[in-house]
Amino acid sequence: MIHEGSCHCGKIAFTVEGEIDGATACNCSICSRKGSLLWFVPREKMQLRTSPADVATYTFNKHRIQHHFCTTCGVHPFAEAVDAKGNRMAAINIRCLPGVDLSSVPVKNFDGKSL
Ligand SMILES: [Zn+2]
Repeated sequence: MIHEGSCHCGKIAFTVEGEIDGATACNCSICSRKGSLLWFVPREKMQLRTSPADVATYTFNKHRIQHHFCTTCGVHPFAEAVDAKGNRMAAINIRCLPGVDLSSVPVKNFDGKSL
């Protein structure tokens, strides 16, 4: 299934392909502030449909994860990183996929326990 995602103002729009079998409520210092619900997919499953110039990037700590956000509205639809096996991954904030019924997605916290 192909899901459409966007920031609030629409300057960042993307599609992502796959079945959403669950999401992670990460408890790191930035995710706990943002409230993101993350769905991890291989990076090639995600296609940016708008200009990369509107995508800003924040990194911290070990700078291994690129936390992306919109330069206009500040919403953070996704992040990118390379996993331990060297695969490029995208962490999609499923709160930015308007067609997804969030109540149907099992959410786990960072420790893998259901919330
Ligand atoms: Zn925006």
